[in-house]
Amino acid sequence: MRFTDADAALLKSLGARLRPVFPEIVTEFYDRIVEHSHARAVLTDGHVQIDRLRVSLRGWLESLFGGAYDEPYYNSRAAIGRMHVRVRLPQHFMVTAMNVIRMRMLDHVESLPSSERRDARRAIEKILDIDLSIMLDTYREHVLDQLREAERERFEQRLIESKHLATIGQLAASLAHEIKNPLAGISGALQVIREGMEPEHAYHEVLAEALRQIDRLDEAVKDLLVFARPKPPTRERQSISALLQRSMLLIREETSVRGLKLQIEEAAQDVWAEVDEGQMQQVLANVLINALHACGPDGEIVCRLSENGDTIRLEVEDNGCGMNREVSERAFEPFFTTKARGTGLGLAICRRIVEAHDGRIWIEPRSPRGTRVVIELARTQ
Ligand code: ADP
Ligand code: MG
Repeated sequence: MRFTDADAALLKSLGARLRPVFPEIVTEFYDRIVEHSHARAVLTDGHVQIDRLRVSLRGWLESLFGGAYDEPYYNSRAAIGRMHVRVRLPQHFMVTAMNVIRMRMLDHVESLPSSERRDARRAIEKILDIDLSIMLDTYREHVLDQLREAERERFEQRLIESKHLATIGQLAASLAHEIKNPLAGISGALQVIREGMEPEHAYHEVLAEALRQIDRLDEAVKDLLVFARPKPPTRERQSISALLQRSMLLIREETSVRGLKLQIEEAAQDVWAEVDEGQMQQVLANVLINALHACGPDGEIVCRLSENGDTIRLEVEDNGCGMNREVSERAFEPFFTTKARGTGLGLAICRRIVEAHDGRIWIEPRSPRGTRVVIELARTQ
């Protein structure tokens, strides 16, 4: 459906005959637009006046029939499109309004001698299709610009974060090293003392508690080290369901003590991926322990494994406290925690590991309550 010189000539002669109905069309066009409250707000909030727009629509109709259909024509159309975008006129209002023009034009074609109608209809359809596609293009351009801008901002944000983290990381790593060795020494000494005591001794239980606290401190220091000094993964082909089963063992005892339900829904067939076993187990442990922390007495944790073509999807769902908006936006941030005894490093480590495996990890809210953590990894055969 090429737009030809014959179409251009036809439009010119049609223009001469349709010109008397332009004012009517202009009025109807804006009446229709301001039926929408949003468009009304956009067009009457001071910076764009409807009267001015009426004049420009009139000009637009003139040139629709007057040509010349060349580059300046295209540019002037695109400029109008960009103006719509600038005032944030929703795209479907623009499309509806363009349709009003189309319908009215075609109505008027019916009043022409029947021998002329078919060609006239076709020429009008063609030029309006061209105009519509120019308008849609400006919207598309705008969306792409926005995406690019968002991408750039994200990139800069990451850069700032990574510089920031490199500093924190160095500090954390040296601190963790300083703490780790004396901690091992203290723990060893306390164990020796405790073993030398009668179990009835008044301090026997005190020492047991001290040792538990040291274990916790040791876990936190380990997290800090993993976070500050990430190791590149050593990837080997692993059965992901076996890995998941092993990770679930870690929390099985606590779930049974607390009477929580723990379920697994497996893929129809075993799925394999090239992963660092230790690192991936740490990811699953972090996510499962978070689910455990979130659950109340009627808690339920479901681990689901599925595959879709080349992708493995691992989900850990809980029906626990869920996250509000701020928490879900910040959950992967290092050192962000809502727990009195949290390090805030669990999910940050998860993300780092999963991304080092070229995978993705994200959080979805569940209704009526709870959280779903989703991990996607590339599958191998
Ligand atoms: P930590 O567990 O030490 O607080 P994480 O990085 O593992 O650190 O988690 C960060 C925060 O994200 C938690 O403090 C918690 O508020 C929230 N969170 C993580 N997992 C869940 C979950 N399954 N349900 C509700 N909140 C969660
Ligand atoms: Mg955690």
